[in-house]
Amino acid sequence: MAEKRPFRSLDTTAVHAGDPVPRICGATVPPIFQATVFEHRGEPGDYHSIVYPRLNNLPNHNAVGGKVAALEGAERAIPTASGMAAISTVLLSVLADGGHLLIQDQLYGGTHMFVTAHLERYGITYDWIRPDNFDDWHTLVRPETKAIYVEAMTNPLTRVIDLDRVTRFAREHGLKSLIDATFVSPVLYRPLEAGFDVVMHSATKYLNGHSDLVAGVIAGSESALQPISKLLNELGGMLDPHACFLLHRGLKTLPLRMRQHCANAQALAEALEANPRVQAVHYPGLESHPDHEIAKRCFDGMSGMLAFELTGGTEAARNFIDRVEIPASGPSLGGVETLVTRPATTSHAGLTPAERAAAGVTDGLVRVSVGIEGVEDLIEDFERAIGAV
Ligand SMILES: *Cc1c(COP(=O)(O)O)cnc(C)c1O
Repeated sequence: MAEKRPFRSLDTTAVHAGDPVPRICGATVPPIFQATVFEHRGEPGDYHSIVYPRLNNLPNHNAVGGKVAALEGAERAIPTASGMAAISTVLLSVLADGGHLLIQDQLYGGTHMFVTAHLERYGITYDWIRPDNFDDWHTLVRPETKAIYVEAMTNPLTRVIDLDRVTRFAREHGLKSLIDATFVSPVLYRPLEAGFDVVMHSATKYLNGHSDLVAGVIAGSESALQPISKLLNELGGMLDPHACFLLHRGLKTLPLRMRQHCANAQALAEALEANPRVQAVHYPGLESHPDHEIAKRCFDGMSGMLAFELTGGTEAARNFIDRVEIPASGPSLGGVETLVTRPATTSHAGLTPAERAAAGVTDGLVRVSVGIEGVEDLIEDFERAIGAV
């Protein structure tokens, strides 16, 4: 059972919430329950009360779920096999029976693929919404519209839709409001407190933070999660107990890590903005960012994701990535180590050049997942590499 956030500080919550009470054999760390068979004494009851890994009810599932629920201020949270398992299960559950969805047009690639390749085949329809056509959103609402889906921050340009507007709109039209909050984590934004109904994360990213597992979570009220949890049990997207153990461990340092991600990204973004060879920097912590005010109002910090363009375009971006030493070059994000990538060749490689241009993703754009290293090393490394392109 999830605990309400029992401590004043998220730091304390991250360390202690969700731990089994009493401790299992006194262990301060919940042991991994690798068993797939648990004795059943034949008492009458729901099949779902039998302890079985796919039913998401091992002590390891409860520990992770309890910790995430406490961090999110949720009645309940459930771990899933991946971020996409969380997102696909929520969408299929909420939109069953031919529902209609309003969904933000700039989406994580996997979500975009799921929506465009599969929803209509299940009898689900959707319309795209954009922050700049807010006044048109109401014209898209139909009798069968059930939900509105957004991401807390877009990839890679870190745009922030006005999230208060989204929840107000959802309330006015009786829609379920769904958010993928992977880019901010509950340390910077707790969507349920802000009025969202269901929050999803790729726990592969900040929640775990160590680039060593794939996982997701879904959080919300008991009543919102009940049908979602049932569908998840039947689709089978549960998280392996060993991965639960690692995620539970990673979560303990989430607030500590997020503080350093935010501070490093702010300092690096400012250094890049001051560099004459840098043409543009996209980071919501900069006053020059178009959504700076929205992000300041909604979030407790600006997170660790930024993107920038060098004056030399694609060639310069390639040379920069070859020359920068501390970051690995690769997709994914949210780990302790800094990563750089050119979205045109990774996350947005599936789009045509024209589609990329429409999304503002130039071929020379470099995305950075800023890690928790010493920022003086990062700035020195980035400036040296930029100077050498
Ligand atoms: C990575 C990511 C996902 C998908 O998560 P997986 O754990 O890879 O399935 C979904 N949304 C966002 C914003 C992501 O960054």
